[in-house]
Amino acid sequence: MPYLREDYGNPSSVYTLGREAAKAVAKAREQVATALNCGPSEIFFTGSGTEANNWVLHGKQRVITSEFEHHAVLHAVKDPILLPVYDNGIVKVADLAAAITPETDMVSVMFANNEIGTIQPIAEIGAICRERGVLMHTDAVQAVGNVPIDVQALNVDFLSLSSHKFHGPKGVGALYVRKAVQKSLKPFLQGGAQESGRRAGTENVAGIVGLGAALEEAVAGLDAKNAALLAKRTRIYDAIMSLPKVRLNGALGSFDGCAVDRLRLANNLNFSFEGIEGEALLLQLDMNGVFASSGSACTSGSLDPSHVLLALGLPHEIAHGSLRITMSRYTTDAEVDLLLEVLPRVVEKLRAMSPIWEW
Ligand code: PLP
Repeated sequence: MPYLREDYGNPSSVYTLGREAAKAVAKAREQVATALNCGPSEIFFTGSGTEANNWVLHGKQRVITSEFEHHAVLHAVKDPILLPVYDNGIVKVADLAAAITPETDMVSVMFANNEIGTIQPIAEIGAICRERGVLMHTDAVQAVGNVPIDVQALNVDFLSLSSHKFHGPKGVGALYVRKAVQKSLKPFLQGGAQESGRRAGTENVAGIVGLGAALEEAVAGLDAKNAALLAKRTRIYDAIMSLPKVRLNGALGSFDGCAVDRLRLANNLNFSFEGIEGEALLLQLDMNGVFASSGSACTSGSLDPSHVLLALGLPHEIAHGSLRITMSRYTTDAEVDLLLEVLPRVVEKLRAMSPIWEW
């Protein structure tokens, strides 16, 4: 808040107020660098996760990516080679190794999928890319703040993140660019000398400060936060899977008692209910005080089934009946109780009205 009011300096100004703002931006850069295990000069602030993805992929010709990336990657590249994700929602490292050719410009595979939460083998993919001399980017927008991230161990050259995924302000993101490859990245926005001349435009100081503080807070005690989320997720999973004709979309790597799930974000479940329209389900849940989604929030205006669920091989009618349930570290047991009271009731009601549902 102070950076929107009394400390409203421009970090590029030389007077005291400006220098204070520059110091605050530098502190946020340190906070992000500490969270990712890199140097502050390897962090560049952007206006969003989308911008970070677009920037890194801009002008790249021969890109290998996966079928179920966010549209901020898929729509940013022309004619990419798409790796399959199979029915578990996980890229196979062998497929990537086979797809790389001497012409490959870049590999971009997301860290965790935004609809089904499945976690990709990024460190192994990064190692192959490093060995074959190919640049490697990961869209880690869903992962940063939710799972421990160490860019050294991951062998990645570029990593995108977005503040609003870890309770920071909306409309601010960052791109990690490994020192050794910084020369390969051309500025995406032309203008002033901000962000070491690589991203022009006056900094969103309050947003950047919020991003840094939120990330520092998110990664503190992450294992304990994830263990608490896993306990809630297991409760929801057990209750929902006991309903008839329901399936979980994407791999699940951990059940009760395990502190870590290496295959799926601890805050994510994605179910398909036979005989039900996802949109109808969402509206009914909303009316009962439960806020969930069917696919990605960015494509909620579209009537097409989710490209993520189709990539898993789901038929259209099953993909249409999908529900994505996500939690945060603030989700309470009472909220889980509410979901588990409302959802089975709503599923039964909608199926009773459905012309295609036969008991
Ligand atoms: N990538 C993934 C995996 C996302 O989930 C999102 C947003 O939901 C984005 C990119 C885009 O980030 P932003 O909304 O900050 O542009």
